[in-house]
Amino acid sequence: MTTRFGPRFMLGMLAAVVAAIGVFVLSGDVASALVTLVGAIIAGLVTLGVDPTPAAPAEPDIGTGPAPARLGSVLEAIVEPVLVIANGRVEEANGAARDVLGNHITGQDVRLAIRHPAAAERLTAPIGEGSSEAINLVGLGTLDQRWELRVTDLPDGRRVAHLIDQTRSYAAERMRVDFVANASHELRTPLASILGFAETLADGAGEDPAMRDRFLKVMADEARRMQRLVEDLISLSRIEAEKYRLPDASVDLADLVSEVHSEMMDSADGRAAEIVTDIAANVPPVGGDRVQLSQALHNLIGNAMKYGRAGTPVTVKLSRDASNMVRLSVGDEGDGIPPEHIPRLTERFYRVDSGRSRALGGTGLGLAIVKHIVERHRGRLDIASQVGRGTVVTILLPAALSSKGNATVTEGPKPA
Ligand code: ADP
Repeated sequence: MTTRFGPRFMLGMLAAVVAAIGVFVLSGDVASALVTLVGAIIAGLVTLGVDPTPAAPAEPDIGTGPAPARLGSVLEAIVEPVLVIANGRVEEANGAARDVLGNHITGQDVRLAIRHPAAAERLTAPIGEGSSEAINLVGLGTLDQRWELRVTDLPDGRRVAHLIDQTRSYAAERMRVDFVANASHELRTPLASILGFAETLADGAGEDPAMRDRFLKVMADEARRMQRLVEDLISLSRIEAEKYRLPDASVDLADLVSEVHSEMMDSADGRAAEIVTDIAANVPPVGGDRVQLSQALHNLIGNAMKYGRAGTPVTVKLSRDASNMVRLSVGDEGDGIPPEHIPRLTERFYRVDSGRSRALGGTGLGLAIVKHIVERHRGRLDIASQVGRGTVVTILLPAALSSKGNATVTEGPKPA
């Protein structure tokens, strides 16, 4: 147990008792003597800085345990920037705060440490009078970083400023807003065209059979474009909704490649005849969603046929690599893609050449869909391209494990 009262306190108590006896001797009144005694004790306690209220139950004596952490080391353990401010100056700043605001901020006027009018006003307001609302800050750290500042006033007159990094959620919100704007724009264009032709037909153009047939064909093409777009948007939102549910069916990709190949041969596209498949023996199945993997393969082969040069092959290869991944690649011999575009190709509506994509019936969502499907399968997507020579898009998927923990193997070579 620690002792709360020192020798000065004992002397004070003795003086109080002596004073009380004096009052009793002089007045003969017990009540006055007791009031004098209690008053003298409280005055002694306040002067000595001891709280006269009953002490809280003592902490259990932890003997040889570690010393309590200092405020500085507690702040250092927090990954987000935190500052303690006293009298308008930075008293303590953790490493994260020094990284964002500079190493020199400890001891600095807080208005210089965080140069922002709303923050300065809040951080210098009288204690207890500032608003508890968050303040949004731009331009601290790097230019594109966004922060939310929260300030808490402490009873001892200091205040704690906490910076919360909002850069990611701001970027996600911007992507969402851009996506809605882009999708609306993509839908509005064919819609305006359909309405325009319908009005022209109603105004009498329909009386000329040749013109009417031409207009009706344009309207049908535009309606199909809208349909493709709506279908891709629905696909994207379905795949995103299932993002965290790992697909668990066993999918034989060799079978799937053959199936997609024959589906494309049955389609009216003349380029389908140029699809060449190269399927290795002993490719294990993958844990997957067959419908989604088929969609990814359709999109990749579709792109290779659209952007590959007419008369050149579209090669679909399936193999197993050394690290137990199944490798599915689709290659073409088209114009290729300049390197600066490659990192952005899986963004929704990103196109290297919008006019060409639209003319070929593209929605700008094909690779975004492939990326989401691959992510859901815990796989990897790789796009390699050489301008003037062609493009190879590869999907790597983890092989499905057998109950013994080995990758299961499909027997025998598959027909090309
Ligand atoms: P789109 O519907 O426009 O084809 P995608 O998302 O499938 O949309 O592809 C995005 C863009 O990437 C395309 O507009 C095109 O510019 C480019 N691209 C995709 N695949 C290829 C390819 N095999 N060769 C060349 N460019 C490609």
